[in-house]
Amino acid sequence: MDHTKINLLVKLQHLDNQIESIVSLQKGLPEEIDALDEDLLFTIRQIESRKKIADEQLTQRSRLHDTINDCKIKILNFKEKQTLARNNKEYDALSKQIEYEEKEIAQAEIQLQDIVHSVQKAQEIQKKGQQLITENRYDEISEEMMPDDVLRQQLEDLKKQVDQKREELESIVIETAEDVDSLKLKVERQRTHIETEAKRLLDKYDHLRSGTLRNAVVKLNRNACSGCNTRVPTNRHTMIVQGGFYLCESCGRIVVHERLFEEAEG
Ligand SMILES: [Zn+2]
Repeated sequence: MDHTKINLLVKLQHLDNQIESIVSLQKGLPEEIDALDEDLLFTIRQIESRKKIADEQLTQRSRLHDTINDCKIKILNFKEKQTLARNNKEYDALSKQIEYEEKEIAQAEIQLQDIVHSVQKAQEIQKKGQQLITENRYDEISEEMMPDDVLRQQLEDLKKQVDQKREELESIVIETAEDVDSLKLKVERQRTHIETEAKRLLDKYDHLRSGTLRNAVVKLNRNACSGCNTRVPTNRHTMIVQGGFYLCESCGRIVVHERLFEEAEG
């Protein structure tokens, strides 16, 4: 059996392991940043939707005030015309128009009251939220209960946290970029080399690593596959010790003697 092929693959696994260990220096920062970004987006959406409601209320209020003013001016005009009315019929007709405008004013005032009430209601709900915060009962706070100022503070805090984590990650990436680049180059060279020498082994390696699994080639540890801890049959030990490999029946990983990894490091 040609053992040099498996040596080439162990070397590749060793290089990929080195990249993995450098990437792991990032300590889950990319995932943390993603989660913070999501929270940040959610908070921004909440603030924006509240602002949208407030803006709409403001527009509606000013529109209603305009209506009321228009009606009042019309009423004044009609009343002035009434003083000049030549007969009862003309006077009554103007009275009807005044009545109509008064109804319009009353309706607008009801709508204004509705807006005032919904603003008050929102404030009361937020007050309840503030109370729950004081009592540390955070899990009982609904979205609408979150007070405006707490929401704004939350936004600021999240922005700061994301910036901090991004900076941290960036500095790690910069610090390790050179090592990672040179390792990636070595990986490429090793892969090209194996491509011509042992294509099927490389395919097996890539297939194993196509999912979340990173260690396709593992050491024999206490007579077991160190990837999944399944025992390796005794009759395969000799071959492994001699520098061959064994495909784990349980996880499919390529199991080799640890000596091969030591050689790959050298
Ligand atoms: Zn296994």
